[in-house]
Amino acid sequence: SPSDIDVAGPSPRHTTTQVMVGNVAVGGGAPIVVQSMTNTDTADVEGTIAQVAALSRAGSEMVRITVDRDEAAAAVPYIRDGLRKRGITTPLIGDFHYIGHKLLAEHPACAEALDKYRINPGNVGFKNKRDSQFTDIVEMAIKYGKAVRIGANWGSLDQELLTKLMEENANSAAPRDARAVTREAMVQSALLSAKRAEEIGLPKNKMVLSAKVSAVQDLIAVYQTLASRSDYAIHLGLTEAGMGSKGIVASSAALGILLQQGIGDTIRISLTPEPGGDRTLEVQVAQELLQTMGFRTFVPLVAACPGCGRTTSTTFQELARSIQDFIRDEMPNWKAQYPGVEQLNVAVMGCIVNGPGESKHADIGISLPGTGEAPAAPVFVDGKKFKTLRGPAIAQDFKALVIDYIEQ
Ligand code: SF4
Repeated sequence: SPSDIDVAGPSPRHTTTQVMVGNVAVGGGAPIVVQSMTNTDTADVEGTIAQVAALSRAGSEMVRITVDRDEAAAAVPYIRDGLRKRGITTPLIGDFHYIGHKLLAEHPACAEALDKYRINPGNVGFKNKRDSQFTDIVEMAIKYGKAVRIGANWGSLDQELLTKLMEENANSAAPRDARAVTREAMVQSALLSAKRAEEIGLPKNKMVLSAKVSAVQDLIAVYQTLASRSDYAIHLGLTEAGMGSKGIVASSAALGILLQQGIGDTIRISLTPEPGGDRTLEVQVAQELLQTMGFRTFVPLVAACPGCGRTTSTTFQELARSIQDFIRDEMPNWKAQYPGVEQLNVAVMGCIVNGPGESKHADIGISLPGTGEAPAAPVFVDGKKFKTLRGPAIAQDFKALVIDYIEQ
């Protein structure tokens, strides 16, 4: 219908209570925050500082670190200090399982150095002690004024709650599918834990909820339900997303749909790195997801055609790659480097079929010569032909024009 074409864009953001994590606002209408997690041994102070610094430089606005034993907890204040000495104030989140209550009690400097504690209601402690251990961690957060993420996870779901819901379901007049009951248990686990934390005294503006699942359709249903039943700030993430393109596609599909529906205040793309691979890829993917959907602007956007039989050489691919890398490597602090420039679209196109048209829609664009075309590359600025580049230094010349354009 005509109205479908007139209205484009996401649903209004789901209203949530804002939580301050260190100096970063999450929820309550704040920009959607990118976060990531280290995979170093936290007891390795220098290694963890280096990875937090790399993730932070790549654009991670909060970083989670594993705190799994005494040595890790003891290292946290040194990591915080080391980062401060490098001028890095990115909030640190401690990821606790099983003995978090003990580690926080025995390492007050760790409890103080962290900005948020992540606890998993299914892994808070051992059977029969769970309630008191959960209470201990929440009381510690209250004492130190820290935020808490209550993160339910499909792989470590509260078994008592799941068993109870399964039994109720089996005895009901119209039993539901077992997977639906598990989804319900995920949502209830997060919400009951949040309610319990509030009863202990943790205010809503100190709490973020997550309910991570590894299957895209389950994840969407779980988060839609979570958002419909509460106004806690929401951390989105597909758990165990996987490696390479599989992880990127699955995470983008799930998170993209939820973000479009206005759900999600902070996101993490959980990618399994290739052996020796770069951990910062998950930050790059998170930024690109938010930017391509129009929620945030991190770096100039480069549009490039896929290339086809009309591109006669590798010049086009090389130019597209070189412009993309140039922008990511040379402009990591784009907003600080060029204050006042909100958005920049650069187009790199392979021939005249779509080249001039697409380049005219960009702020600055270039159309390389395709098969049978004159050996010239017209450059378009603000929709008008600006000049024509020729010769072997087209890439360098075009980069210089991009810089000139931004500076002007
Ligand atoms: Fe092929 Fe030209 Fe289209 Fe690029 S713009 S995909 S080179 S036809």
